[in-house]
Parts: sequence; C-alpha cells; structure tokens
Amino acid sequence: MTTAILGAGILGTCAALEIADRGGRVVLIERNAQPISEASLHNEGKVHVGLTYAADPTPDTVRTMQTGAARFLDVLARWVPADALDRLRSQPFDYAVLDDSQVPPDAVERHFARVEAAWRQAARGSARPPVAPDRPFWRPLAEAERLARYAPGRVTAAYETAEIAIDPRGLAPLLRRAVADHPRIEWLGRTRITGIERQDRGYFILADGPTGPARLGPFPSVVNALWANRPWLDRMLGIDQPGPWFTRFKAGVRIAGPPPAGLRSVTAVLGPYGDVVVQPHGETYLSWYPDCMIGSTRNAERGEWSEHAAGIDGDRIAMRAIAAMAAIQPAAAAFLASPPAAIEVSGGAIYALAVSDIDDRASRLHRRDIVGIRSYDAYHSVDTSKFTLGPALAVDVADRVHPR
Ligand SMILES: Cc1cc2nc3c(=O)[nH]c(=O)nc-3n(C[C@H](O)[C@H](O)[C@H](O)COP(=O)(O)OP(=O)(O)OC[C@H]3O[C@@H](n4cnc5c(N)ncnc54)[C@H](O)[C@@H]3O)c2cc1C
Repeated sequence: MTTAILGAGILGTCAALEIADRGGRVVLIERNAQPISEASLHNEGKVHVGLTYAADPTPDTVRTMQTGAARFLDVLARWVPADALDRLRSQPFDYAVLDDSQVPPDAVERHFARVEAAWRQAARGSARPPVAPDRPFWRPLAEAERLARYAPGRVTAAYETAEIAIDPRGLAPLLRRAVADHPRIEWLGRTRITGIERQDRGYFILADGPTGPARLGPFPSVVNALWANRPWLDRMLGIDQPGPWFTRFKAGVRIAGPPPAGLRSVTAVLGPYGDVVVQPHGETYLSWYPDCMIGSTRNAERGEWSEHAAGIDGDRIAMRAIAAMAAIQPAAAAFLASPPAAIEVSGGAIYALAVSDIDDRASRLHRRDIVGIRSYDAYHSVDTSKFTLGPALAVDVADRVHPR
C-alpha cells in the first residue's frame, strides 16, 4: 500500500512522516529540490490561537485555529527534538489597535477574553501548548507603556499577548532531515506534477521529473497537498471545490542581524495592516499588507507565486513596509536610519474562500472555518488554510489513509 502525497509543504511533509511512522509506504512528490520550499517556508510562522480573528462574529475560526495550535508542537515533536522546537519560538506578539481599525479596542478586548477562555479548554489535551494555559494570556498596556512602544495617535490601544511564531526557516531543515532519514518515504523532488488519472487499479500521477515525463503508480490512495494548485488537480478528477475562492500572493521582508533595541513582535489590528516578528536567532520578519500583497486572482485553479513575483522591486517593498511599520512602532525606524546589509523579500500564495479583500470588514477572509480535508474515495484534497493547521491536518489525513 503506497500512498502518493502530492506537494511537500508543511501539510504534505507532515502527512508523509505520519503515514510512514504508522508503517505505510509513501511517495512524496514535489517540484522543488527540497521539502518546505514555498508558502510553508516563506510565511511568518505565527501559531494562531485566534486573536487575529476579531471580525468573525462566530466562534468557529477561533475554534479551528486553536484545534491546530494546540496540536502544532505535539505533532512536530514526533520528528523534531522538543528543545530544537523551543529554540524556534519568536518573541511573543503584542497587538496594536490602529486609529482606523475595523474593530475598536473595547470589541478587541471582548474578543481576546473569549479567545482566552476557549484556549483554556483547547490547550488541555496538549503536551506542548505554544501558549501555556497557566501563563498570562493577554493584558492591556498602560498608557505609559503603550506610548513607550507605539506611536501616539496611530495606536489607540495595545496589548501584550502570549501568542508566538515558530520560525519556518529554522523548522524547514529539521523536517527535511526527518524525510530524508525515513526508510518508508520515497522522495521524488524536482518532479513537477502535470496530471492525474483514475483507473480500476488506482490513481496514476503524470509528472515531469529529472529523467523526463513519467506515469507514476498505480497508487491506492492519494493526498493532494498542492495548496493554491489544488483545485486544478481536483478538477481533473471531476471534483469541484467549494467557492468562490480568492488567492493572494503575499511577500514578507526578512532582515538579518540583531533587531533594533526595543523592537517588539507586533500584529496591527484590524484591517489591511501588518506584523513584525522578532525571531529567536536575530532575524526580523516584517510585513505591511498594502505593499506586500503583490497580486491576487479569483477562482483561478492554479496559483503560482513565481508568476506574480517576477519583476517585483524587493528593495522598494522592503523600505515601504519598514516605513509603514516605523509609523506604528518607532523602534523599527532604526532600519531606515542605517539600512541593513541583508534584506530578503520572499513570499507565497494564500488560498482562502472569499470574494473581497481584508479591507472589507465583511470579507470572508476574516473567517477561516471552512477548511481542511475533503475525501473522495481514496483521494483526499486538503485545504491547509494556515501553517498553524498543517501538522494537525496531516495527522487527520493520515487517519483516513492509514488508520492506526
Ligand atoms: C507571506 C505569508 C505569510 C503567512 N503567514 C502565516 C502565519 O503567520 N501563520 C499561519 O498559520 N499561516 C501563514 N500563512 C499561510 C501558510 O503559509 C500556508 O497556509 C501553509 O504554508 C500552506 O501549507 P501547504 O503545505 O498547504 O502549502 P505549500 O507550503 O505551498 O506546499 C505545497 C507544495 O506543493 C508544491 N506544488 C505545487 N504545485 C506543484 C506541481 N504541479 N508539481 C509538484 N509540486 C507542486 C509546491 O512546490 C509546494 O512545495 C502565510 C502565508 C504567506 C504566503
């Protein structure tokens, strides 16, 4: 029984490891030379516990995020030493409510209180919760603290929270090693999937690999983990995913070297804003939505970051994003005063069910509850939705492919 896993992002990689650990054989097919090379490498790494989703009037997005967050480190710790995972934790996030926020501070606080109460339940079964349930979860900054960290006028309220990111750049080599070392995973890198066929004997994967075109299989079961290209392959089997969907192509700015004194990890809420992530090993991740969102498509079956990123001016994006963040968090202005030597602008696709963008408070992008696995016989198509949900969904899809 060999399962074909298509795409080696966080979802495909963890699913391959989980199925192989259960005794199944796996072929992991990926166009890049290494696992975790696209969105799962270039994202910000925030392990969402739901604080960001203050515009969802239902509890569903918080529940979805917390289900993933509570299992995130537990699942990864099967393949990555727990102390190595601990070294990937970012500085915890502050939340800064901007003067033109879609949600005012009193509603943000009510939302945070609900998120905290839900987390106390969700984290119970977790051996390694990314936010320990006994830690202070959030607290408002007193005015003097807020003014010391954030721009007066622009930031109307600010909160310290216990939410963190796990640095995807640090995680990627650890998961790559686990794949390379696993005796039941056959790694087919540099192999572009071009099609799929279903026959009585199973599924055949059409691909272009290092030795030319190939027809791989038959496989009794398949996991489609192609992220923004997922609908394209589904359609070849006559499967239409729910829609409408909206694929955005978003960049982030990575700045090497120690962060400026006093720089805080912060998420600006709620609207088309951005984040700063102070990573544990002296790198800063920074994004500003109006500059970092470089393109989008609606209901396109394929979504390729590389096509949208061709020709972007990375230096301009970086400097504009830094300037926008410095207008919120003055400590970031040090990046402008003495521009860092090493700045990288990279990104990926973000697939989500929605019509309008996040500047619309009613946009479905403010909700991430219709996500996860859809199974059609032995073919499983997975909308990861978030890095946060990848490891947990990988275990869930393994339960369908190779139950314990
Ligand atoms: C800038 C940015 C910031 C983000 N920040 C966060 C965050 O802070 N927290 C969070 O929870 N989520 C975040 N996300 C979302 C998160 O990155 C994604 O939800 C997650 O990484 C998707 O994982 P995946 O494994 O499904 O997709 P991917 O990591 O993209 O993996 C899919 C794989 O399929 C491969 N593939 C595609 N087509 C083919 C083909 N034809 N042949 C062979 N291989 C193919 C790709 O090469 C890729 O390796 C962010 C995303 C972006 C872009």
